Amino acid sequence: MPSDVVTTTKQGKVIVISGPSGTGKTSICNQLLARIPHAVWSVSATTRPRRKHEIGGDLLPGVQASYEYLSIEEFQAMDDRGDFLETADYVGHKYGTPRVPVEKAIGEGKHVIVEIEVQGGIQVARRMTDSIRVFVLPPTRETLEARLRGRKTESAAQLKKRLAEADGEIAAARDSGCYQYFVVNDDLDETVRDVLDIIRKETE
Ligand code: 5GP
Repeated sequence: MPSDVVTTTKQGKVIVISGPSGTGKTSICNQLLARIPHAVWSVSATTRPRRKHEIGGDLLPGVQASYEYLSIEEFQAMDDRGDFLETADYVGHKYGTPRVPVEKAIGEGKHVIVEIEVQGGIQVARRMTDSIRVFVLPPTRETLEARLRGRKTESAAQLKKRLAEADGEIAAARDSGCYQYFVVNDDLDETVRDVLDIIRKETE
């Protein structure tokens, strides 16, 4: 077994990974899923349209499903029923973490990777005080812009909005005091090692 594997699963923890769009959060989360036994991915609900490569799905070990795609009415109905652990409006669309799958997984001793933006991270911090919250920073603003452009998933207008959102998100994350850890994602392998160290420390 590689030495960087986190083996402690006495009690499941919610692991929040936040950071501006384009910082490499999803790559980090995929690596965490591959290396942490019993870790599962929390599948968010969103009203944003599906991108070409995205798949729908459930909480599956080692598999990162994209989203549950809902109409605004469906999302609102779930919210009204209290079915979300947290919700946020992000660049014109709604996003939310379904509550029951997360609670079920931690009850079964699994760690749940929750990749969400900062408004959601703040809500999770308040509702689940023993969650681990990590905020991923880009090395520079230029790298962030280059990564977002390279991804080619957004229109020029959406890209501009996401970049503007990034500055506000970093400030909000710092001001909120809700994130225990800030990591700079310069090198993916190094960042993953840093986050695994954090999780190991918090779960031992
Ligand atoms: P994208 O549209 O690029 O998939 O996601 C946009 C932003 O929303 C990203 O920062 C992503 O982490 C965040 N996000 C995804 N799902 C959720 C969720 O359920 N709740 C919150 N608050 N943010 C989410």
